[in-house]
Amino acid sequence: MSKAISLTTQAHQSIKQHLNIGDIAIDATIGNGHDTLFLSTQVGSEGLVFGFDVQAQAIETTQEKLEHEKVTKNTQLFHISHSEIKQHIPVSFHGKIKAIMFNLGYLPGSDKTVITQASSTLSALNQSLQLLADKGIITVAAYPGHSGGDLESDLISQWCEQLKPEQYSFELIHSSEKPTAPRLFIIKKLFLTE
Ligand code: SAH
Repeated sequence: MSKAISLTTQAHQSIKQHLNIGDIAIDATIGNGHDTLFLSTQVGSEGLVFGFDVQAQAIETTQEKLEHEKVTKNTQLFHISHSEIKQHIPVSFHGKIKAIMFNLGYLPGSDKTVITQASSTLSALNQSLQLLADKGIITVAAYPGHSGGDLESDLISQWCEQLKPEQYSFELIHSSEKPTAPRLFIIKKLFLTE
């Protein structure tokens, strides 16, 4: 548990360097709403956050959390798979999203059969590249310790490796040396001068 928290903190620290008041961000896996709330606070009332999750419970809990913190005005939650992420973000915002967060696997304390799937995760990542602004950032917390999560993590590694190095940088942070330990992928879109 503490390992997952430290990866989350790591993701938040990286995102803080790229996300400012008035920016637009996406939480691609709302879950318990921790990242949605973080992004919402980071962009302030002038910014916007879009969130996606396939579980009603995640949407409801997070909506309550945002209401409690009085930050609902800048957030829009979709009870929809992130495999449809691009079509739900207004076209005028394509190429303008500064930060996109993924926290994969299953929602702790919930239905463990609802887990992110490699094929939809990769589709969402490809769409995310099209949504991302120059100097934008994508973070992906991946959990190879559960069945399906191992393949998903491997495929994300391969996906990162094939990114054009002149356009994107990526970094991989392991929470421990254990092969099954949670890990964080940080992908950054470089600023293109031409
Ligand atoms: N493993 C993390 C929490 C991940 S929560 C931890 O331990 O802290 C992952 C969330 O992704 C869940 O709420 C789940 O419902 C959601 N999810 C699964 N498939 C999805 C999809 N295709 N699109 C959007 N959200 C999805």
